[in-house]
Amino acid sequence: MALKSKILHQNTKIVATLGPASDSKENLLKLIQAGADVLRLNFSHGNHENKKEIIQRIQEINEEHGLHIGILGDLQGPKLRVGEMKDGGVEVKTGEKITFVNTPCVGTIKKTYMSYESFAADVQVGEKVLCDDGKLEFVVAETDGKSKVVLEATFGGILKSNKGVNLPDTKLSLPSLTKKDIEDLKFILTQPINWVALSFVREAKDIVQLRDFLVRGGHKAKIIAKIEKPEAVLNIKDIIKETDAVMIARGDLGVEVPLEQVPSIQKRIISMCIQKAKPTIVATQMMESMITNPSPTRAEVADVANAVLDGTDAVMLSGETSVGMHPDVVVQHMSRIIAEAEKNYELQDKRPKPNRKSVTYNSDTICINAAKIASDIRAKAISGLTISGHTAFRISSYRPKSRIFIFSPEKHMLATMNLIWGVKSFYYDKFTTTDDTIEDIAMILKKHKHVKVGDSMVNTGSMPLHKRPRTNMLKITVIE
Ligand code: PGA
Ligand code: MN
Repeated sequence: MALKSKILHQNTKIVATLGPASDSKENLLKLIQAGADVLRLNFSHGNHENKKEIIQRIQEINEEHGLHIGILGDLQGPKLRVGEMKDGGVEVKTGEKITFVNTPCVGTIKKTYMSYESFAADVQVGEKVLCDDGKLEFVVAETDGKSKVVLEATFGGILKSNKGVNLPDTKLSLPSLTKKDIEDLKFILTQPINWVALSFVREAKDIVQLRDFLVRGGHKAKIIAKIEKPEAVLNIKDIIKETDAVMIARGDLGVEVPLEQVPSIQKRIISMCIQKAKPTIVATQMMESMITNPSPTRAEVADVANAVLDGTDAVMLSGETSVGMHPDVVVQHMSRIIAEAEKNYELQDKRPKPNRKSVTYNSDTICINAAKIASDIRAKAISGLTISGHTAFRISSYRPKSRIFIFSPEKHMLATMNLIWGVKSFYYDKFTTTDDTIEDIAMILKKHKHVKVGDSMVNTGSMPLHKRPRTNMLKITVIE
């Protein structure tokens, strides 16, 4: 299969959200051919049966074309919504009042259901309530502390059925994994999903709970913390420590914090994550106008290019590929913007330093220095062998100019690593001697035209091979 964008050397990955516009086998293949690296299943929509079928289709494509496209399952988390509204929508004019209750009903000015049992108890008079991505703004005028909250519209409009509600000022007492998330996780445990994203993360503990669930269920999925609450921005350091990756979920984040702060939060989180070798995804409205239009706006092109220049591992498409009019064309455009922006990409900050106190200190030092040596000798490639994926995360975090090729006997891990900046992964399960392995790697990369005779390559690996310790070896090879 001709994978146009993948023949070009591209480091920044593309995550595409699936939906009715893209989830047939034919359309999945088109998305992948256009350059999608990871496909996102949004658990806020659809049912398990349908997701199971889509996952099967992706697996088939991976098998048939020898690819390692990753699968991301995105949990809804404690997302708040109003219920069904009378006639599909009720107008609340600026200055008017509306009452929210916690028992389901057809919504009117007098009584509108919102999916948060202890809202009246948790909220304080004067706190902000935002509906439909902030299109409507309210302040809390009264609460009875049990079941009723009166809101006054400071910016009115039509409140439509099932629209999201954001409470940026309120300390929510909701659990980070809702009943629905637990049901979705039980399904995820039975599926080959590579990344599980958790929405509305507030603190590191939320990640620990999700990790416990996955580990107890014997699942190897890695975790993405979606940053879309002010608390998460405050607790970012601890969250980065616990999570495997971070999504800057600009949709809800832009409602929950002053919108103008989003670009600097994006830059700050990306640079903190590079230091800790945790991949980042920049999400939402990157190519929004392409839901209907055939080409992006100038501002969208600049947004994608700037995310690349910030050093993000991946950029994400939501409605553009799930319900948009031309999902594969969006990915093609995004791919071209990435290729162009990467010509000017240089890591802005200092290079990441391994942490002396970490149990992986020695192997992290090898990975970072392999990337450094590769830059010094202008090597075409850096190779790594991994079971845990650790080597891939570390080498990538240096943001080397040389391409990163990671070999692993763990099929699941190959697709997981497809989210990481610059990493291209290969299946490899021969563990005879280090000499043989290095020779095999050179041959495989030569066969795929990633290197040619005379190119140099930096190999990392572990010795003795049969014991499979962490990465502890570094070698320079010249391709023969
Ligand atoms: P969502 O997350 O699409 O699940 O809401 C992304 C965001 O909020 O930006
Ligand atoms: Mn969100």
